[in-house]
Amino acid sequence: MDHVQIVVAGHVDHGKSTLIGRLLYETGSLPQQVAHELEGAGGPHSAAAFAFVTDQLSEEQEGSFTLDMAQAQLRTAGKDYTLIDTPGHREFLKNMVTGTTRADAAILVVDAREGPLAQTYLHAYLIAMLGIRQVIVVVNKMDLVSYDRARFQFLSHQLSPHLERIGITPVLVVPVSAQQGDHIVKRSDRMSWNPTPPLAETLDRLVPLKKGGDQPLRFLVQCPFPVNGGRAILGKVVSGALRRGQPLVFGPHGHKTVVTSVAVGQREIRVATTGQCVGILLQDAAPVERGHVGYGGEHAPVITDRITARVFWISPRPLAVNDGIEILCGTQGRCAHVDGITRVVDPISLKVIKTKATRLEDSQVAEVIVRTDSPICIDSFEVVPELGRFAILRDGRTVGGGVIAT
Ligand code: GDP
Repeated sequence: MDHVQIVVAGHVDHGKSTLIGRLLYETGSLPQQVAHELEGAGGPHSAAAFAFVTDQLSEEQEGSFTLDMAQAQLRTAGKDYTLIDTPGHREFLKNMVTGTTRADAAILVVDAREGPLAQTYLHAYLIAMLGIRQVIVVVNKMDLVSYDRARFQFLSHQLSPHLERIGITPVLVVPVSAQQGDHIVKRSDRMSWNPTPPLAETLDRLVPLKKGGDQPLRFLVQCPFPVNGGRAILGKVVSGALRRGQPLVFGPHGHKTVVTSVAVGQREIRVATTGQCVGILLQDAAPVERGHVGYGGEHAPVITDRITARVFWISPRPLAVNDGIEILCGTQGRCAHVDGITRVVDPISLKVIKTKATRLEDSQVAEVIVRTDSPICIDSFEVVPELGRFAILRDGRTVGGGVIAT
């Protein structure tokens, strides 16, 4: 059965957690005990009840998620879904730019009364920047605007053109009340004017993104470890396939060798495919270290110390030209500095604010030229996302992320 990962985005308090709780409840996806507790907490219509559900899930899954991220499993007649909720705006941005949140699709929640606000636009921009093209816009809290058709249409006409300008054509714009349970699984009598299917049905239009199986091989080295007096290499195939017997080059230094064995745990396999973590043996593993990138002879990554990228900056302290930063791209870490900030864009108005800027402020986006202290393997984001994006750290903290334009 298809499995789709969906990140839930939107301005704080517009109802992300409530919506997730409601979806889980109405589709029967909650563990029985949690469903009972929810009913006990004032009934499924009570105001606080659904946010309570997502808190509950966060606690239940302690240890299985990182960086303030809660994940919930949802099943409809059509598919399995993972819903990813990040309480907190900063955490949302961080999880997205660092690649902690990996999603095939997004739900953008907008409060019907307040309409889209700053965080709505920032989240939408980042979703588009990270190549998530399947977006369902949920206009929530329709109860607060008396289920008014004109209000819904006004918001829909305001949001859709904005999203299209950043490269997203919404799958659908769906009016709901997460708190009241309107138009979640069943059509709502209170919005008989609405022709769109209920939200749960709309989800079935989302498809998992194609994994990079037919893309060039990229094997990110996590760590070498000793075996039988030799050296095995543990790593992840993030694109293409890795076969026993094939020649392999390791960048950025260009060490050439041959794969003699591929194993998952103790089990030997012939081919490792995209997404698999494997241990491999090589004819000559001696020069291979954490951070190296294995590839086949033909489609090499770009090996460079100069990166041009679209950078989303998320720190109150600006990024200035010549600033020292650290970048993390796959398992590669490099010290770097900013060579230039070419074009600064405001992700809300989408206007170019400045060309040839000296600094990049909080929540702005710019084309930035980064110089690394030593060569690094990169790819175009469209071809190999894992090597086409990087996180930016300063003093050990995540302060931005970039998408590589090659
Ligand atoms: P989040 O910050 O986006 O996760 O928002 P929450 O899910 O925590 O909801 C914020 C507030 O809005 C809570 O008080 C919810 O009870 C309330 N809320 C959420 N959905 C609805 C809705 O459909 N109608 C009304 N009236 N209130 C809602």
